[in-house]
Amino acid sequence: MLIDTHCHIQFKAFYDDVEDVISRCHEKDMILNLVGTQAETSKKAVEWAEKYDWMYATVGLHPIQEYKTYVEEEADTFITRGEQFDYDYYKKLALHQKTIAIGETGLDRFHIPKNIDPEIVMTKQKETFLQHARLAREVNKPMSIHIRDAHEDMMPLLSQVKENSGVIHCYTGNWEYAQEYLKAGFFLGFTGVITYPPKKTDPKPQEWLNEVVEKVPLDRMVVETDSPYLAPHVVRGQRNEPWRVEEVVKRIASVRVLSMEELEAQLEKNSHALFPNMI
Ligand SMILES: [Zn+2]
Repeated sequence: MLIDTHCHIQFKAFYDDVEDVISRCHEKDMILNLVGTQAETSKKAVEWAEKYDWMYATVGLHPIQEYKTYVEEEADTFITRGEQFDYDYYKKLALHQKTIAIGETGLDRFHIPKNIDPEIVMTKQKETFLQHARLAREVNKPMSIHIRDAHEDMMPLLSQVKENSGVIHCYTGNWEYAQEYLKAGFFLGFTGVITYPPKKTDPKPQEWLNEVVEKVPLDRMVVETDSPYLAPHVVRGQRNEPWRVEEVVKRIASVRVLSMEELEAQLEKNSHALFPNMI
């Protein structure tokens, strides 16, 4: 069974045709984890998970939503909220039986607003991240962690969240950082980024990521799309949809010389180990 462990089909990129997207996923007999990034999209994730038995929710405040800033991605442009993390609001959502994880939370140096000192922003992101960690421990659910251009910032925090389980979602770092996350007990989530060829101008990051895909223990990886973002190479630049997670599976299967069936079964097992509340 295909499981997209991280997607955002409750986002506005899907407003016009979400029913079609849902039926394309349902035809493939999938399980989806809908991840919230602020108050409204977290609440929506829970509402959808209530409506469809094959959908689950993850609730939290994304680090880039803490300040108002303009974001431009291949599939979407938007202005973030400038939202404070309301512990009690998220706790209510976190306690819902269809909520399987807390996030996405984490650290992001890529989308820092231009008019604010980056170190002030990072300090706030770290505080909010640790509040998510506290919530995850309180409700006994794993974390979904976002890290962009901020592995060095995350390293000292790992010892503080060691007793938490969870996933480093959309892992794109090198094997050294990967080993630190694995040692701290986290899974690594892979997206369509692993299907991209190395950039001619700067091939190193993709080569490092390929090394991670080759070396990560088979029982510590999960797959995701991060839809509407990060469409796999064959449709790069288009809006991504959860069923395209099969391109990610295909890529790993070829690197690890496994059949699709073998790998899918392993990934299903891993997803259940990562999210104990997912039935
Ligand atoms: Zn995401």
